[in-house]
Amino acid sequence: MKVSILAVGTELLFGQTINTNAAYLSKKLQLKGFNVMYHYVVGDNPNRLKQQLADAFEHADMVILTGGLGPTQDDLTKEMVAEYMGAELVLDQRVYEELNAFFAKVGRKMSANNMKQAYMPEGCTPFYNAAGTAPGFALERDGRIAICLPGPPREMSWLYENCLDQYLDKFVDKKIFYRVVRTMGIGESDLETMLLPLIDGQTDPTIATYAKEGEVAVRITSQRDSMEEAEAAVTDMIAAMSDICGEYIYSINDEEMNEVVVRLLKNRGLTVSSAESCTGGKFAVSITDVPGASNVFGHGYVTYSVDAKVGVLGLDRELIEDKGVVSAEVAEEMAVAARHLSGSDIAVSITGYAGPDADEGFNPGTAYIGYAYEGCSGSRLIKRRAVDRAWNRNNFTLNMQRTVYLILKGEL
Ligand code: ATP
Ligand code: MG
Repeated sequence: MKVSILAVGTELLFGQTINTNAAYLSKKLQLKGFNVMYHYVVGDNPNRLKQQLADAFEHADMVILTGGLGPTQDDLTKEMVAEYMGAELVLDQRVYEELNAFFAKVGRKMSANNMKQAYMPEGCTPFYNAAGTAPGFALERDGRIAICLPGPPREMSWLYENCLDQYLDKFVDKKIFYRVVRTMGIGESDLETMLLPLIDGQTDPTIATYAKEGEVAVRITSQRDSMEEAEAAVTDMIAAMSDICGEYIYSINDEEMNEVVVRLLKNRGLTVSSAESCTGGKFAVSITDVPGASNVFGHGYVTYSVDAKVGVLGLDRELIEDKGVVSAEVAEEMAVAARHLSGSDIAVSITGYAGPDADEGFNPGTAYIGYAYEGCSGSRLIKRRAVDRAWNRNNFTLNMQRTVYLILKGEL
């Protein structure tokens, strides 16, 4: 079924409010098996609203409107939708009583404006709103379905979860199953090229790649008569994907890299420690963000200055002067020292330039990640083109996580 989303509110046109409702609904609808055709935004103007509604129904069977259901003069979505669909507004006893109870509770008198919220289009399916005062509704006429939801995102999502989701079931005959496969260490276009044999000519499951910060995610979606069939189709596709690019896949359950690392360390009964310079402790934060990290994380050294690298980690000052503070040797020695001092099984380190300025001839985005584990130590050079400091630091942090991951996989 084709559906469009029509957000109502002048503040959206002014850019004061971001249209998060449309993004939220699109995600939900897509997953339910609807074809989302268009997003529209219109101001609080009755004529343009009606005009846009008519236009939206030219291209879709269902239009979901958000906003303008409140009690004030400029809230006119319900009135316009009822008029367009040819439905009278009639008093809904339950809304009326709930409004009365609400105003009695807060000790305020109900105004005529508030009263208008108790009127609903005749013959609609009401969605009673426990998260606010404005109810939503669905109105079906001659094969067209108009659905109205309140504007405040919290109320809108509450109504979606508790009322609309169930109401929509009758329009969906297929079951949808999807998984998000996460990859790291390969760019989006390279990955897509590798996957082309799978992507080409595929209608189900569908494969969609999208770049996230420092990684590429692949969503695999199947729409079948039963959930079991859909899941089996997705599982088969993931197996085919693994044959092609398995070395880059680190999760098929939409887990983050830090979560995967903590899980793997825990399963093996291993611990990790870190010595960080340009990331300032972000790696330690990212690992301790994961519940249960206390079992696997030892010590996070933040040794930003040369003095700290010498004083805390015990690095040789001459080595630093000789090789440069951002060097493969210093990174490796930092990791070796962190492992030795902490007694952890694995240690990772980083020394680099986060930017935005070029430093000592090095471009921002250049870093060495050091690592040390039983019987082995080394370093990896990371080169990013970005000058954005925050972006670089996040990317470096992800690469430190990935370094631990590669060690755990026996690939480093
Ligand atoms: P109320 O009863 O609060 O007046 P309403 O249904 O009339 O609700 P609006 O007045 O249109 O909704 O919007 C209320 C608030 O909800 C807006 O100020 C805005 O912060 C938020 N909002 C409205 N539409 C959207 C949207 N599409 N995306 C995100 N937030 C929105
Ligand atoms: Mg309003």
